[in-house]
Amino acid sequence: MATTLTTIVKRSAKFHPRFSTCRHRSSGSKDFVKIVEVGARDGLQNEKELVPTNTKIELIDRLSATGLQTIEATSFVSPKWVPQLADNKELFTRIEKKDGVSYPVLVPNLKGYQQAVASGVKEIAVFGSASEGFSQKNINCSIEESLKRFQNVFDASKNDGIRIRGYLSCTVGCPYDDRVAPKQVAKVTESLLEMGCYEVSLADTIGVGNPESIERMLGEVLAVCRPEVLAIHCHDTNGKAVQNIAKSLDLGVRVVDSSVGGLGGCPYAKNATGNVSTEKVLQFLSTQGVETGVNLEEIKEIGEWIRKSLGK
Ligand SMILES: [Zn+2]
Repeated sequence: MATTLTTIVKRSAKFHPRFSTCRHRSSGSKDFVKIVEVGARDGLQNEKELVPTNTKIELIDRLSATGLQTIEATSFVSPKWVPQLADNKELFTRIEKKDGVSYPVLVPNLKGYQQAVASGVKEIAVFGSASEGFSQKNINCSIEESLKRFQNVFDASKNDGIRIRGYLSCTVGCPYDDRVAPKQVAKVTESLLEMGCYEVSLADTIGVGNPESIERMLGEVLAVCRPEVLAIHCHDTNGKAVQNIAKSLDLGVRVVDSSVGGLGGCPYAKNATGNVSTEKVLQFLSTQGVETGVNLEEIKEIGEWIRKSLGK
């Protein structure tokens, strides 16, 4: 059933003999993959040393000039939980918001949502877990309760016209539960979409997935929704992120989360290395002839600069 990426590329090449280099190409065409850059939030939140606000702002402003359409900016969680992102309000008000670029922020609850909206945020991300164990350890409640906690955020967002993206963690493996059932992933994805998420990003939080487990998981998820409402979020712990992304693309997913310089990890999942780097993803996609609108050379420079700034 699955159309392979190569087929898609070949097929679209028929209609578009030359892949367009236009940066504003719509993400609806088959040979376009949208990159969601998560380094400034998912990446930096795992840095132990406080990163100066000016460095974060420079990072986001530089990323805004690379052709990226979505740059996750920060998180409005309590500074007690994530001290690294305590400068969320200052950061969000000071970054240059480029036309056509979305700057979502992560929010954990209504309070975070209200602070985000007061700071001018137009898009937020909420999160749930596909694994009971991770949900209990990470947010101290069951999956169901964790989703209920976001109901008032969804209600408020409808009045405020705020778009909501959902993150689902541990979709192919969890540090606390041995196995995560693909059907369970499908169920929680469906709940997030029903609540009002325009897209759900399926995360391999600890980077233990392989193309087979990604296929099993996506097989169930695609039984409850279209690939157009999904994104894939891979960590590169076992070096399989690119293969896992390729499998997701074969199955129709067209949005990929990645992190400049491979920044990141997971504070609740020890041994989890960084998110797959944006550089690696762009490199792979260009070998496949897939358009992203993002300038790889510029991303490489930013990656080198931010890693150096963080002493890596
Ligand atoms: Zn991540």
